[in-house]
Amino acid sequence: MCGPSPVEPVEASDDRPFDVGLAEVRTGRRTLLAAGGAGLLFSSALGAPARAAGRPTRKRAYVIVVDGCRPDEIDGGLTPRLQALRNGGLRFPRASSMPVMETIPNHVMMMTGVRPDRSGVPANSIYDRKLGDVRTLGRAGDLRADTVIERLNRRGLTTGTVLSKEYLYGVFGPRATHRWEPAPVIPVSGHAPDVFTMNAALAMLDEFDPHLMFVNLGDIDRFGHVDLTGTTLRVARRLALADTDNLVGRFIDRLRSTGRWKHSMVIVLADHSMDWSTPDQIVSLQPVLDADPLLAGKVRIACNGGADLLYWTGSPGQRAAAISRMRALAAGVPGVLATHERTQDWLRLGPEAGDVVAFCQAGWRFSDPDRLLSNPIPGNHGHPATRQIPFFIAGGHPRVPHRKASPAHATTVDVAPTVASFFGLGAPRGGWDGHARL
Ligand SMILES: [Zn+2]
Repeated sequence: MCGPSPVEPVEASDDRPFDVGLAEVRTGRRTLLAAGGAGLLFSSALGAPARAAGRPTRKRAYVIVVDGCRPDEIDGGLTPRLQALRNGGLRFPRASSMPVMETIPNHVMMMTGVRPDRSGVPANSIYDRKLGDVRTLGRAGDLRADTVIERLNRRGLTTGTVLSKEYLYGVFGPRATHRWEPAPVIPVSGHAPDVFTMNAALAMLDEFDPHLMFVNLGDIDRFGHVDLTGTTLRVARRLALADTDNLVGRFIDRLRSTGRWKHSMVIVLADHSMDWSTPDQIVSLQPVLDADPLLAGKVRIACNGGADLLYWTGSPGQRAAAISRMRALAAGVPGVLATHERTQDWLRLGPEAGDVVAFCQAGWRFSDPDRLLSNPIPGNHGHPATRQIPFFIAGGHPRVPHRKASPAHATTVDVAPTVASFFGLGAPRGGWDGHARL
């Protein structure tokens, strides 16, 4: 999606994640539980144990996503708690996000351990050929692969999701045993501020104590989107870094003070990093493609900030010629880094990602279909400049190494295999696309 706003027209009310949640409560599939003593609403699968009854294992795994954090920011002096956590555990200095370097696909890779051609979720925004329109991949039915969340549930272990963004809440749907409904949600950003998200995470820890918790903290990303390099808006991101660091510190303190730390593995990572562009460094491909006789009116674009997904909507017989033309024209536009045929093996994006993938150069952004209106946001990701991420494993469990740096190229798709290995789960049908990093 271009820009941070998930607010878009929906064709049926049950496409809205909150309506889906309410419908599940009405039909008796889940119950709403007020927990945490502050009116926090959690929705829990019917018949789920309030706590991990029987305690088949004392192991706990926590995956904390600092959305949009750049690895160099951990050393910027604003995040002492994250820095100490990273340096005290097993860190992966070469870690990266996976294409498309957007929020939804990388969170899905974390929990499935498979690439988008197997999960059905290649980007935040796609052109839905059935619908005939561009939309956000924020529906529970969009995610086709099994998740480590569901696999742990089937083993009798409990899981929890505390996701600050509406579309993440939507795409993971009712999979976890317990899930927090993000609130209050800032209308323009579509996310709950980290202080609320962390209160919910602490309440879930106290009330339900799930074996696996998956937490997304959205502030660093959301304030990153409005950051303009060289202006006072940079202050907002610096504040977000310091605040989020403090909140992660509170979570770690709670693990220690409640005796959980020695049984815990805590994976901290980002889903992508962040890059900034100025208003003169915008790429808009739609007018270029529409000026071509072959392509005019027959290409739709799903804009993902640093990546454009191009979809041929003309006759199948002309697809090959259209793909060549799209790539040739896009390659000549200033700010375009590279174009790829979507079916390239290494991309592994699946048919939902269209026919051609275009990445922009560092310091640029896409704004499609409209140059002025589609993406006015300076901070973007999705392109190779935003691949590098922080990724480290902390915790007091004996399997977590201390003060070690790994030369391995860890990626977001490694999270599920690592969590599965920690709990003794094998690979899913078809195998992992990532690697266990413990
Ligand atoms: Zn993100």
